[in-house]
Amino acid sequence: MDKDNRLTYARKIVWDYLNEREKKEVMDTGEEYKRFIGRAKTEREAVALAVEFLQQRGFVTLDSLRRPLQPGDKVYAVIKDKSLVMAVVGKQRPEAGANIIGAHVDSPRLDLKVHPLYEETGLALLKTHYYGGIKKYHWLALPLALHGVVYRSDGSRVNVCLGENIDDPVFTITDLLPHLAKEQFEKKVQEAFPGEKLNALCGALPAGNRDEQERIKKNVLNLLHHKYGINEEDLVSAELELVPAIQPRDVGLDRALVGAYGQDDRVCAYALLSAMGQVKQPEHTAVGIMADKEEIGSYGNTGMQSEFLANFLAELLEKSAGNYSELQLRRFLASSRAISADVNAAMDPDFEDVMEKNNAARLGCGVVITKYTGSGGKKGANDAHAAYMAHIRSLFHRHGVIWQAGELGKVDQGGGGTIAHLLAVFGMDVVDCGAALLGMHSPFEISHKADIYMMCRAYLAFLQN
Ligand code: MN
Ligand code: MN
Repeated sequence: MDKDNRLTYARKIVWDYLNEREKKEVMDTGEEYKRFIGRAKTEREAVALAVEFLQQRGFVTLDSLRRPLQPGDKVYAVIKDKSLVMAVVGKQRPEAGANIIGAHVDSPRLDLKVHPLYEETGLALLKTHYYGGIKKYHWLALPLALHGVVYRSDGSRVNVCLGENIDDPVFTITDLLPHLAKEQFEKKVQEAFPGEKLNALCGALPAGNRDEQERIKKNVLNLLHHKYGINEEDLVSAELELVPAIQPRDVGLDRALVGAYGQDDRVCAYALLSAMGQVKQPEHTAVGIMADKEEIGSYGNTGMQSEFLANFLAELLEKSAGNYSELQLRRFLASSRAISADVNAAMDPDFEDVMEKNNAARLGCGVVITKYTGSGGKKGANDAHAAYMAHIRSLFHRHGVIWQAGELGKVDQGGGGTIAHLLAVFGMDVVDCGAALLGMHSPFEISHKADIYMMCRAYLAFLQN
């Protein structure tokens, strides 16, 4: 029982419960986190950074291991460069289950279409198709960087990251000047910003002779060929994402907050990596997932609706005991405990009317345990069991984790989902648990450094025990 346990419950402000050393750790964690989130602007970049991080800490790919797995062994697998599963083998037998944390590493953004490049009225532009739930007007009049890959028809790959260095050119989607926005002002927001008009400026100089057609577009193609060795058809086999060309910043005079793009959900992925890096000889096998495609429904072979977790754990069992059976895998999965590591919405003083103040998360009050998500009467929710909520609460108390419970918005206001239900299909207990954000899904989301610190501590306590 913690010393502050009383008859009534009150959420705690993390800062009030930290000593000087811990306060410094909060700020140091904030610095490390900003370096991560500024470099991990796409799912591929998050996975590549995770691989670098894991290799530095002695993790090896599961399929490279040529001996039986032992407790304490650290392994991982990458799925199509966009998802990743990692594990530290526990002392207990597989039947005792694993402790699994799953975060997602995709974020809302603008994807280039397969035929993106065109010329209109003397300008070259790139057509986009937005990915995930965005407010389209957020993406106008903003410097954008282009990240991703292009595969040539011979299978060779070009990595693209343009717009992050201060000397790099950026791209941008122009907005209508207010002087001529009379009709736009009268429209509903949904109708005022059609997705088909999210076209990014990418050139304005002509190539070739004055009598040629589409000279601006040709000039852009020349530049792409010169810089990347690609042609227009190569863009068909590309995944190029426009993301805000904004670096993470401290927000506020006290530097308590981090403003950055892509914190949903790479803030949880960061805490997960940080925890996995510290797990040592865990009781149960500790498993971490960095999943792709959460923002569009977890489809595809890199999303949580696919079997990559079960495949990884099947290989793990086979390499541990050498006598894999499906029944053993099913028992392993069903007896596991999971945290769906995803963000929740923090109370915003300017939008209090969409939140219910008793149940909304607050910035700076610790990691948020979200019993259920969903919308319109908990539809689509995993809804963690009461006994499991008690287990998590008790674990956090024992390990000095300051937490709060939160719900996403008022009952009939809307809602959201995570990967929780896709872990629950295996029979394991799952609860959502992560940091709260302001401005979620905007190009500049806000987190609290003390919450990130507590999230790292929470995930470590969960994985280690
Ligand atoms: Mn999320
Ligand atoms: Mn999201």
